[in-house]
This record gives sequence, C-alpha cells and structure tokens, in this order.
Amino acid sequence: MGAPGSGKGTQAQHLVSRYGIPHVSTGDILRKEQQLGTALGLRAKQIMESGGYVDDATMIEMIRNRLLQPDAANGFVLDGFPRTVAQAEALAKLLAEIESPLDAVLLFEVNTEQLVKRLSGRRVCEFCKKVFNVHTSPPSVPPECVDGRAEHQVIQRADDSEETVRARLVKYEEATRRPVSGFYSYTGLMRTVDAEGDINAVTQRMFDTLAAGSGKKAAPAKKKRAAVRRAKVRKAVKKVRRVIRKLAKKVAAKRSGAVKARKAKRKSVRKPARRAPARARRKSKR
Ligand code: AMP
Repeated sequence: MGAPGSGKGTQAQHLVSRYGIPHVSTGDILRKEQQLGTALGLRAKQIMESGGYVDDATMIEMIRNRLLQPDAANGFVLDGFPRTVAQAEALAKLLAEIESPLDAVLLFEVNTEQLVKRLSGRRVCEFCKKVFNVHTSPPSVPPECVDGRAEHQVIQRADDSEETVRARLVKYEEATRRPVSGFYSYTGLMRTVDAEGDINAVTQRMFDTLAAGSGKKAAPAKKKRAAVRRAKVRKAVKKVRRVIRKLAKKVAAKRSGAVKARKAKRKSVRKPARRAPARARRKSKR
C-alpha cells in the first residue's frame, strides 16, 4: 500500500526478484486493458484520468482471475490492491479459499507535498516507457529521450497533472490509507516503511522491516516454496487418512449389521414351535 508516487511499484520489483514471485499491479492491468482498447480499458481510462477508483466488483473479479493463474501458486506481490475495505474483505475471502494467506502488508509513507512534486514532475517516454522527473532526473535531450528519435517523445501522463494528482491523493487518504490500514492494523501484518529519500535506502528499510516484523530473516523463495509443498503434502495425507477412517467406519457398520442379521436368522431357525398346552391337545384329539 502507498499513495500514488510513493514508489511502491519500484519496491515491488525488488520483492519480485528476491522471492521469484509475480508482481500483480492492478494499475498495470488496467493500463494494458486501455492499450488493448477493451470495454474495461475504455471505461477505466476516464476514471483513472479523473483520479477516481474503478468499481470494487470489477477490481475483485480482476484480482481473482489473476491470482488463480498458475504463476501465482507460490505467492505474489500485490501492488495497488486492495484500495478499499470492500476489496480487502474480498481479498481475505479469496486468499482463505486458495489457502494462500498474506505474509505482510507494507505501507509506504511519503509526505504529501513531496508526492505532489514527484508525480507532477514525472515524465514518461511514450516509446520505451522510461520514467524521468523534471526536478530530479530530466531527460537529457528533451522533448525526446533519444536524440533525434521523434517516436521517443517524453510526455506527462494525463493522471500526473497537478490537479489530478491532488485529487488522487485525497481519494487515497480517504478511501485507502485510513480505512484499509485500519483494517489491516488488527491483523498484526501491517508494517510501515518510511519511503522518503534515496530509493536504495528505502529498499533496505523495506527488507529490514519485513525481517524484523516476522522475527526472522525473510525466507528466500526456494525455502518458502519447499514449505508450501510440505504443507500441501501434510494436507493431502490428512485428507487420505480422513477418507480411510470414513471407509473403515462404513465397513465396520456394514459388518455389524450383517452379523446381527445372521444371529437373528439363526435364532429364528433354532426356535421350536411352541406346543399347545396339554389340555388343548387333548381337546383337539377328542
Ligand atoms: P496505480 O498505477 O496503482 O497508481 O493505479 C492507477 C489508477 O488505476 C488508480 O488511480 C485507479 O484509478 C485505478 N486503480 C488501480 N488499482 C485500483 C483498485 N484496486 N481499485 C480501484 N481503482 C484502481
């Protein structure tokens, strides 16, 4: 979690390379839909440009489809989701269903005025997608990022205009930071990362926070995958045992039913016909 411009996407990349798991960014998925010109992409474009949020039902469905892909079976880094309490609740249900609980929730914190400066100063090359900042790292040969290559135009994203940036930050504070961080603070998973200053220092703080939060060094991807595999095997063994116990009970019940039936049959064969009393027998002879 983090405000637009807090650098959560950049830091997510470090988690991806350390743990070998996919980066699931809802913003990226929506931008791809826009490029493909799908109905969702067209609808999302207007919402994103105004600084609003795409509706919860659409986002929840999108994340469900993504997390059910095979490459997410060993874990994933979520970026930009959940953004509302409804999304956080739906995510909790989905993760319980696929038995893949959250390890941590990272909240990247940056001062608002810094964010406005970072975002409104951001420029992106239309062609190679390289990111610049007019304040800190401007393109060397504006308005292009490669000299004399007109297709490498460096532009400002529509949602990075100062007006939209401020709208996005207000929306983030009201709909995401306060309610969603409140939601997760009860789970004990929440870790706050000071995301101001040098990017490498932020990366270091993130890994330190993760290791400290769990009380041990963050497990590398291999170890984690092995643990997941062991848990799956344990679960499968338990399930087989349950099935065997059930079958054994059924067989035992059947057997005891059959034994009872046999005993009842034997009893009925052995039982002599009751003789009539002597007086009655004499009477009938007469
Ligand atoms: P991002 O790249 O994460 O900053 O997302 C860009 C924009 O996509 C946001 O400002 C929203 O309009 C939209 N968006 C991304 N993720 C979500 C989400 N989980 N819920 C609603 N809207 C989203």
